[in-house]
Amino acid sequence: MPSSEFSIIDEFFTLKSSQGVPPELGIGDDCAILDVPNDKQLAVSTDTLIEGVHFLASSAPYLLGRKVLAVNLSDLAAMGATPAWVSMAITLPSIDKAWLGQFSDGFFELAKQYNMHLIGGDTTQGPLSITITIMGLLPKTKRLTRSGANVGDSIYVSGSIGNAGLGLQKAQSDEVSVNDADVSAYLNPQPRVELGQQLLGRATSCIDISDGLSADLHHILNASRVGASVIHDTLPLSDSVREHMTCMGDNLWPYSTGDDYELCFTVPASINDIDTKLLAHGITKIGVIEQQPGLRIQLPNGEKVTLNKGYEHFNE
Ligand SMILES: [Mg+2]
Repeated sequence: MPSSEFSIIDEFFTLKSSQGVPPELGIGDDCAILDVPNDKQLAVSTDTLIEGVHFLASSAPYLLGRKVLAVNLSDLAAMGATPAWVSMAITLPSIDKAWLGQFSDGFFELAKQYNMHLIGGDTTQGPLSITITIMGLLPKTKRLTRSGANVGDSIYVSGSIGNAGLGLQKAQSDEVSVNDADVSAYLNPQPRVELGQQLLGRATSCIDISDGLSADLHHILNASRVGASVIHDTLPLSDSVREHMTCMGDNLWPYSTGDDYELCFTVPASINDIDTKLLAHGITKIGVIEQQPGLRIQLPNGEKVTLNKGYEHFNE
């Protein structure tokens, strides 16, 4: 859509982008130019969301605009970074101004909440997909990574697990409205940016749960060259998720379902007195890091099961 590309960027994105930390040079030139403060380092992440793969074709544009930014903010949260700048490449099947208006409203509402500035954009024609590159700032020597977990560390998760996966199933079956808490967890995830920032200097490792607790905790275990035991009874689960597990006859369902965008992190055993600031984020201790590789789940009946990674983007 070459003739109207500039007007789309202007109308729906440039005019709304003037908030947050302004770049040295923003939209309108061949590149944006960023000035990173001397005492800071830049954390950068890119994510693509494709219609029919990462979101439903029926997705409401306002919520989709929020979600594409939320899932990227979640990656900054996992590193403990403070959101600063974002650029977006959007591929559209056609120019639908009503759709674009709602999409950009949702996007900028969340951008404003985190004081983010849009520094660049690209528009092309094709099947609907959105690619976001997000940039955040970290103090020069601090960061959360996947590789710092030590034997004896406690494992925590924020929020509750499995609601977004259950919400996806409900949304696919048109069973309930967007007001349902599980559907809302799927369509409108809340990135744990403030929690991530408070974990800087406290947590030894951290990841956001996008592919499922088992898969994402495995990333920490593999990067840190350790194993873990999780006490199944301690998993933070809503009544709706518990009901679903009973219905399915599958106790292990919450470990493999994704899209929660909660944080999973480890803290040293010596920080047993997790302070009230962190507890206010609704975190739950679910297990402990061990020397023996692999992820073991201790079931209420005393049985232990070992879990594999779970969901992968490319099936073998
Ligand atoms: Mg991530």
